[in-house]
Amino acid sequence: MKFLPVSLLSLVATLALTTAAGAADSGPFVFPDYRSGAEINARCEAVLKDVSSQETQVAAGGTPDNVLIGMDRLSQAVDDGLGPISFIANVHPDKGLRDAAEACELRYQAFASKLYQNARIYARVKAFVPADPIDAQLRDDLMASFDDAGVGLPPAARARARALNNEIGKLAQTFERRVREDKTRVPFTVAELEGVPEGVWAKAPRDAKGRVLVGLDYPSYNPVVESARKPATRERIWRAFQSRGGAANLKTLGELGQKRRDYARLFGLASYADFTLRRRMAGSVSNVQRFLGEVKGVVEQRELRDIADLREAKAADLEQPLERTSLKRWDAPYYIERVKRERFALDQNSFRRYFPPQASVDFAMALSGKLFNVGFKPLEQKLWHPDARAYEVVELGSGKLLATLYVDLYPRADKYGHAAVWPMRGSSTLAGRLPTAALVTNFDRTGLTLDELETMLHEFGHALHVTLSATRYSSNAGTSVKLDFVEAPSQMLEEWVYDAKVLALFQEVCKSCEPVPADLLERAVRSRSFAKGLQFSRQHLYASYDLALYSKAAPEPMTTWARMEGSTPLGHEKGTMFPAAFSHLAGGYGAGYYAYLWSLATAQDLHTAFAADPLDAKVGRRYRDVVLGNGSQVDANELVERFLGRAPGNKAFFDWLNR
Ligand SMILES: [Zn+2]
Repeated sequence: MKFLPVSLLSLVATLALTTAAGAADSGPFVFPDYRSGAEINARCEAVLKDVSSQETQVAAGGTPDNVLIGMDRLSQAVDDGLGPISFIANVHPDKGLRDAAEACELRYQAFASKLYQNARIYARVKAFVPADPIDAQLRDDLMASFDDAGVGLPPAARARARALNNEIGKLAQTFERRVREDKTRVPFTVAELEGVPEGVWAKAPRDAKGRVLVGLDYPSYNPVVESARKPATRERIWRAFQSRGGAANLKTLGELGQKRRDYARLFGLASYADFTLRRRMAGSVSNVQRFLGEVKGVVEQRELRDIADLREAKAADLEQPLERTSLKRWDAPYYIERVKRERFALDQNSFRRYFPPQASVDFAMALSGKLFNVGFKPLEQKLWHPDARAYEVVELGSGKLLATLYVDLYPRADKYGHAAVWPMRGSSTLAGRLPTAALVTNFDRTGLTLDELETMLHEFGHALHVTLSATRYSSNAGTSVKLDFVEAPSQMLEEWVYDAKVLALFQEVCKSCEPVPADLLERAVRSRSFAKGLQFSRQHLYASYDLALYSKAAPEPMTTWARMEGSTPLGHEKGTMFPAAFSHLAGGYGAGYYAYLWSLATAQDLHTAFAADPLDAKVGRRYRDVVLGNGSQVDANELVERFLGRAPGNKAFFDWLNR
């Protein structure tokens, strides 16, 4: 699961995280070196004081007299001060700093709830006469942010909206902290770990009885659930993984559902899904339901065939009659890998030797160079952890500085557990500001599988969207696009790892890296279609569950999940509580999980332009300028149409899904 954190800083949509500060940049971004929570508190205090005084000035119509510029500068100050702090909350090894950073996020939340209810600024935005479509776009986006914050509500409802916004921010933060700081380790004897590569657990801590304590981070969890021979081992770790976050998070998720529903009702809307979707590409809940219905139509039968295949594999493996064999949820990852080994002679682990982690970063950079004419230069900076790296992003040829990029590859205690990109600062050509992004993953130090290399390119897609943005206003920068478009550039880039010509770039960046054997890659390409039915039925379930949770009823999360998962062919396992760790739904992807499938349709459509040659620099340049460069200053549908030279459609996606 990969996603782009749409900042907790901003419940009022597009404005907060994707922006940058006042004076023009002459050098790369310098990551602040906070030594204590007190330093973060002091910085937070100073930033909030500064932006409060900017708010007063903008409301009074003082300098600058252009309200768009005034609001953009304000959000730049937020980015400069609070962008790194919000990031620190998710990755810093020191709990004192993380806690101070989280407290700061809540203080900003309270400020933002008030800012976007400022009737004087709203009136100025409304009266603003745009000179061109870019100004018109930002004015409309700003109006939407004010409207959605409740500026037009009667006083009592306005106060209620502010209170709800603050409570929602706090609940979401608590939910994510419980998942991030989950310390569960599952004890296994060495015999119980039969089949799991020794490198995965050899260095893990032991308990008093000498049992290996396996964590639930991806490099520990995945190999156990995918390769442990003993079903009881897989079941135990799977159940622990499905219980992260715990009952407390289920309660929090329920409260989030109800508070978000209450928020929507202040605006006369029945559900939070109605409230958010009216601002998205999809436009309405019914449009999403229709789309999800089409997806289901394609994958439903295929899921049943996948399960039949895996059940047969299990029966053969255990040498028992098929009629006495049932496939359990903890069997699925194991038998998917096993069938791939048997049918396609494919073991994802066999890719690790070809894709060392740092070489994989260098590969993504080389690919970006070929396609988008950008280079990456290592930069010496004191960062939040010794594993983290800094880079200058430069224009190839001229060497002109374009952006700063941070990369943090490996898992550690209390670090954000998935793969994601933080858009720390947004671009602004008007202010001469250069963007900054931070890419975070949790990869195994020994190397990446092909699946993980795909994740790397996905996240790199987000990082490029931030760093190659060239928008007039930082409020419109890079990934500030609509939530159901933001994954498209990343999902498109995933396709590149399945091309031998592209993978050959490894040999340009890593002299000691052996080339991936052609037949291995070819088998990986063929095996990619296997179990697509299961995979996309699961995505369909997640998206449908999310919409149910944020529907008019705002139902109890666990019973709703048990019912919905229970009606799938593999059913629901009593005692598990998957939604308790489903951070997307608590955070910025609430009523937005469908966006992964929706964006994938756009991604497949965009990809058609590269079908003839994945390294076509001319198409790459056009893509950079039209799609990446414009951020949200041009409507997403129009961007896609401009790039493709035709109206967007879902055909490429459904062809791909049917493959
Ligand atoms: Zn993503």
